[in-house]
Amino acid sequence: MIDMPTGTDAYVQKGQDLSEQLSAKRADMRLRKFDTIAVHGIYGMQEALNNHGSIIEPIFTSSAQHFESSDHLETALAYQMPAWGYTRIGNPSTHYLEQTLSLLEGYDFAGEVDAVATSSGMAAIFMATNPFLMQEAKSELNFVASGKCYGGAFMLFSERYEKEKGVDVRWVRNNLNLSEWEASIDKNTRFIYTEMPSNPGLAVTDISALAELAHSHNIPLIVDSTLASPALMRPLSFGADIVIHSLSKVMGASGMSIAGAVLSRRNIMSKTGPDELRENFAQYVKLLPARDFGPALSPFNAVMILNDLRSLRGRVDQMSQSTMQVAKALTEMPGVERVNYPGLTSFEGHAVAKNYMQLVDSTDKRYGHMLSFTVKNGVEATRAAFDKLQMIWRATDLGRVKTVAVVPAISTHQQQGEAGRAVADVPANLIRLSVGLEHPQDVIDDLSQALDS
Ligand SMILES: *Cc1c(COP(=O)(O)O)cnc(C)c1O
Repeated sequence: MIDMPTGTDAYVQKGQDLSEQLSAKRADMRLRKFDTIAVHGIYGMQEALNNHGSIIEPIFTSSAQHFESSDHLETALAYQMPAWGYTRIGNPSTHYLEQTLSLLEGYDFAGEVDAVATSSGMAAIFMATNPFLMQEAKSELNFVASGKCYGGAFMLFSERYEKEKGVDVRWVRNNLNLSEWEASIDKNTRFIYTEMPSNPGLAVTDISALAELAHSHNIPLIVDSTLASPALMRPLSFGADIVIHSLSKVMGASGMSIAGAVLSRRNIMSKTGPDELRENFAQYVKLLPARDFGPALSPFNAVMILNDLRSLRGRVDQMSQSTMQVAKALTEMPGVERVNYPGLTSFEGHAVAKNYMQLVDSTDKRYGHMLSFTVKNGVEATRAAFDKLQMIWRATDLGRVKTVAVVPAISTHQQQGEAGRAVADVPANLIRLSVGLEHPQDVIDDLSQALDS
């Protein structure tokens, strides 16, 4: 017999009980190590028993949830009890992913972390930034962003926000020059945005210093840390307010789905928006702007990402060690001009990277799976080397278990044009390389035969 509460008060009470159970489960998991959280998330034995005993999180492809009664429906849709209702707003499979992500990103962080999953990394960037761009009477909105960012972010900011909406986008050229950030901020600045490390230049940011600067102006710091993943760096514990991930990359390394996430600490600073935005940004986005814009993640993709997350730490460790070997080998190849990799002592941002990037639950410095390098003798030589790759895939992709290379100026950063590429520091002879789980010697051999002419 199902115990059927009557009246919405009873459902509100039931909702409080369910929320307390979730909090207790999260508190329990927060005592565990990173790998254990990655493997289990909040999906424990009790949850499994509610799911026919399934030890793997089920994929709920249902578009909607059935309600017991009008009171149940009313309470749920008033957001007064945990429910999912309709997959655009929530879904049990997506919920398991969001809970796992928030525990991983909040690992070792004293406060609570919340997450909303999105249909792509770009949707996450949009949902993390657009809520701050509310047009207030007579104010000229602006935000300050690192020019060294993902091509998609560059286009969203410069085309959609600046050209279409008139938002003033203030690009910072040198992430490590704090006074350049400071000089760009004024009373109409709504947030600060950076990528750490950046794609494809691997530029680094002193997150703590930038967070302090943002907070002194009562605005949030938003960090895209896709390349690092929580296995190497968790920006919230360095003072960032909002973290963005493209889950399509190393967190979803098998490359079978596109997904993203926005994660936030509680009680962020903002000059704009309702109290709910400040109190719990990710939940606010999930329940309101994401409901209205509709960038919901497919539940199928949510479980695909969950599966990849389980082995995140070990994979990032192996990929980082291989990338370090490949980076060193590249520095010795005669056809190579310059290698960008935060792990190289010769790299400009090495000292800062060393302060921020470390394999979780270890003392091992690790610098991630991506590097980029410039090729001597110009664009033609660059394309020729790229075309000679035999095993390394030519694709606009990264974070894969398979090694992938791309020439950003003719692909990921093509549409932003030459002036835009100058801001982003993406020269035409740059090759971006994302090192996978193959034996590093095979990757080095393929590069060396391609560059040997
Ligand atoms: C790929 C990428 C994105 C965009 O993610 P999608 O899932 O492709 O939409 C955002 N930021 C960074 C750093 C990326 O590499």
